[in-house]
Amino acid sequence: APASILTDVRTDFPGMLTGEGQPWHYLDTAATSQKPQAVIDAMARALGEDYATVHRGVYARSADMTRAYEAARRRVADFIGGHEEEVVFTRGATEAINLVASTWGVANLKAGDRILLSTLEHHSNIVPWQMVAERTGAEIDVCPLTHDGQIDLDAAAEILTEKHKLVALAHVSNVLGSVLDAKRAADLAHGVGAKLLLDGCQAAPRLTLDVAALDCDFYVFSAHKLYGPTAIGALWARSEILDGMPPYQGGGAMIDRVSFEKTTYAPPPQRFEAGTPAITEAVGLHAAIDYVESIGLDRIHAREMALVAQLREALGAMNDVTLYGPADTAGILSFMLDGVHPHDLGTILDEENVAIRAGHHCAQPLMEHLGVPATARASFGLYSDESDVEALLEGIARTRRIFG
Ligand code: PMP
Repeated sequence: APASILTDVRTDFPGMLTGEGQPWHYLDTAATSQKPQAVIDAMARALGEDYATVHRGVYARSADMTRAYEAARRRVADFIGGHEEEVVFTRGATEAINLVASTWGVANLKAGDRILLSTLEHHSNIVPWQMVAERTGAEIDVCPLTHDGQIDLDAAAEILTEKHKLVALAHVSNVLGSVLDAKRAADLAHGVGAKLLLDGCQAAPRLTLDVAALDCDFYVFSAHKLYGPTAIGALWARSEILDGMPPYQGGGAMIDRVSFEKTTYAPPPQRFEAGTPAITEAVGLHAAIDYVESIGLDRIHAREMALVAQLREALGAMNDVTLYGPADTAGILSFMLDGVHPHDLGTILDEENVAIRAGHHCAQPLMEHLGVPATARASFGLYSDESDVEALLEGIARTRRIFG
C-alpha cells in the first residue's frame, strides 16, 4: 500500500497532536489506540440527539437506539466472521475472559482437569484461570516459547492430554508481537477434546479475522485497542457452547421471567448482558469497525509490519540494544538499551514527543522468562509512519548521549 494513503489518515485523529499542536509520536497503540473523529462524532450523537435506553422503551427513539445497539452487535459478528447471537458485549477482553472462566469454567472444570496457557500471556489471560482453578481443583500447565518468542506449539503437542479441557492463548502477543498459528493450536486442542480460547486484543486491530477459519471456540477483544472507546469489548463463542453456559451476572435484561419461586434466563447473548449496557460505546465500536475496514486490515497489517521491520533493522545495527521477539511481528517491538532502565528511556523520549511503553506490560511471567524486570515497547497503529520511527531513533541517540 502506498505509505501516503495511510499517512494521510493521521489528520483523522485529534489525539495525534501534542497540547501545543506539535506532531505526537504515539508508539503505545498496543496499550490503547487513538480515536478517529468518526468515532468521536458517532459517540457524541449517541450521547446527544440520539440518546435513549435500549430494549425497553415504547417510544421511537428508544426503538431506534435498540436498533443501533443490535446493529453494532451484527457489525462485530461480521467483522470476526461469526453470527450475531454468538456475540456478547462485555466491558472489554478482561471481562470477557472472566465471564468464560466463571461460567463455562466453573460448569465444566473439575479436580484433575487441566488448562493450558503460555508463558507470554497477558495477566488477564492468566489470573481468571488461576481463580477458576482454585475454585474447581483444575490445574494449569504453561506452554513454553520458542527461542525467538513464539508460543511453541510442538511443545504444546507434547503437553496436551485428554485431561486438558481448555487451551487459552494470545492470538498476537502484546509484548513481542508474535502471531500464533491459531489453526494449528485449534487442531491440537480439539485433538484432545479441549476448547480453544483466543485472546484477540492485539490481533483484532491488525489481522483480518474469521473465527470459522481459525476454528477457535471463544474469541475475545477490546474496542479501545481497535480505535473505538473504552468500556466495551466482545466475547464470541460458538452458539452450542454459549447456549449451555450459565449466566454471569444477574439483573435486568438477562431474564426470561422472574418470580421469587423461580427465575428463568433469557437465551444468549442477552443472558450474559445484565443491566443497562454500554449503549454509546457500542455505537462507537460500530463506527470504529467501519473506519478500520474502510482502510483495510491487510493494508494496516502490511504497513505496521514494514514499520516494525524498519525499526528492528535500525535497532539491530546498534550493539547496545537487545531486541525481543521474532523477526516478523504484528506492529509491536520490545527492546532494551544497555545500561538504561526502560522507564528512564521513556521519560527522555517523552521530552521529544515520543510516547513508548516501559514496564512489564501485564506479562510478568514473560519478563521472568526474558530475565528482565521490564522492557521498552514501541507499538504501531494505522496512523504510524516513518517519522515516528525516526523520532524514536533520534530520542534513543539523545538518551545514549545523556547516559554517556
Ligand atoms: N490481552 C492482551 C494481549 C492485551 O494486550 C490486553 C490489554 N493490554 C488485554 C488482554 C486486556 O485488555 P483490557 O484491559 O482491554 O481488558
